[in-house]
Amino acid sequence: MNEEIDPAVFTDLLTSLRRDASEHLRARGEAIRDVQDARNDPAGADDEHDPEGATLSDEWSRLEGLRRAASAEIDEIDDALRRLGDGTFGVCESCGRDIPVGRLLVRPTATLCVPCAEGRR
Ligand SMILES: [Zn+2]
Repeated sequence: MNEEIDPAVFTDLLTSLRRDASEHLRARGEAIRDVQDARNDPAGADDEHDPEGATLSDEWSRLEGLRRAASAEIDEIDDALRRLGDGTFGVCESCGRDIPVGRLLVRPTATLCVPCAEGRR
């Protein structure tokens, strides 16, 4: 266990990050449904032939990418919360040294210290 870690501080931080990520996931799911509705709407079909604008298909792929990123972020946050619970939070998964608290405050889902993340150790 990284002795400099105050689990309460990071539980709060991760919980609030998780709330934001869940909100992003929800909003993107809704945006994707809107695009699907527009695709199914005959009145909106002309958008597909507008050479100037992004097509609905492109918009859908973009939103799907964002939705997957939000989903992956939630997985990372859940993983960090689990590590807080089992006492491995803040310990580098590669070299076993403590990850500096300053790095964790910026990136609480970090699993590697900076040298390991950059491949220098
Ligand atoms: Zn390391």
